[in-house]
Amino acid sequence: MSFKGMDIVSIRDLSREQIDQVLDLAERMIPYAKGELFTKAMDGRILANLFFEPSTRTRMSFESAMLRLGGKTLEMSHPSMMSIAKGETLADTIRMVETYSDVIVLRHPHEGSARLAAKFSTKPVINAGDGAGQHPTQTLLDLFTIRRQFGRIDGIKVALVGDLKYGRTVHSLAEALTLFGAEVTFVAPPPLQMPRETVRQVEKMGGKPKLTSKLEEVIKEADVLYVTRIQKERFPDPAEYQKVAGCYRIDNTLLREAKGDLIVMHPLPRVDEIAPEVDGTRHAKYFEQAFNGVPVRMALLQLVLGGDQL
Ligand code: ASP
Repeated sequence: MSFKGMDIVSIRDLSREQIDQVLDLAERMIPYAKGELFTKAMDGRILANLFFEPSTRTRMSFESAMLRLGGKTLEMSHPSMMSIAKGETLADTIRMVETYSDVIVLRHPHEGSARLAAKFSTKPVINAGDGAGQHPTQTLLDLFTIRRQFGRIDGIKVALVGDLKYGRTVHSLAEALTLFGAEVTFVAPPPLQMPRETVRQVEKMGGKPKLTSKLEEVIKEADVLYVTRIQKERFPDPAEYQKVAGCYRIDNTLLREAKGDLIVMHPLPRVDEIAPEVDGTRHAKYFEQAFNGVPVRMALLQLVLGGDQL
C-alpha cells in the first residue's frame, strides 16, 4: 500500500495494514536508529520541524530519524522570533515552509491545526500533537513498544491512567489499541475521564472500554499501565488543576500487586506520576519507548517520502 505523499494527521488516517507496514519497517530500522548501520536513503531531502509548543522527544527524535536516514532538517527559531509574532497566519507560514522542505512536522497548541496545515501544504504534513487532539506518531511508537514486548497487541490488557481528558496521546492510542484487538480500561478521576467522543469511537469499533477512577481495580490484571502526566497547561482554571495534581503515583509498593511481566509506559515528560524507584525495575519501559520514536519515525518518513530502498 503506497504512503507516498500522505499526510499523517490522525491515527484514523491509517488502516491496520498500513500501521503494520510502519511497524514492520521500524523493526528493520533499529540498527540504523542505533547507528550500527548507515544509509543515505534520504540524501538531499529536507524535513521542516515546526514546533509551536515545547517538545523534547518528538522534535529531537524526528530530527534524529531524518539525520539517520541521511537527510537534513530545518529547525524553526522560537515562535516569538517567527513572523507569526507579527500576525502571520499558520496557513501563510505553511505556504512558505513547504517551499523550503519536503515534509513538515507540526506541533501546535490548537486542535485541528495539523488538518488545516495539511490543507495548505502540497507536501506531506505530519501531526506532532495538536492541542488536546491527536498525536499519531506517538501512538505508532506506543504500539511498536507493546508489540515488541508481547509479540502481539491483540488481547493485551492496557490501562490508560491519568489525564485522559487533555492528554492527546491517549486519544489516538485508545482507538489504535481497539483496532488491534487490545482491551482498554480508562483510569482517571471523573473530571479527567476520557472524552465521550473517544469512548463512543472505541465502542463503535467493537471495543468494550471499562471506566474507573481506581487503580486498585486494574493493577492485578493489566499487562500495560500507560501512565500520563496531568496536562497542567491545558487547564482553563489553575484551581481545577490543584484538585487533581498528584492523583496517581506508580511506585514499587503498588507494582508488587502487578503481574510479573507488566510494563509501565509513559509518553514523557513525567512529573511525579512514576516514582524514580520504578526506573530500575523490569517493569519500566518508558525510556525504551522514547528510543522507539526514532525507528518508528524513520519508517514513517521513509514511507511518506518514498525514499530509496534500504
Ligand atoms: N509528550 C507528550 C505530548 O506531547 C505527553 C505530554 O506532554 O505529557 O503529548
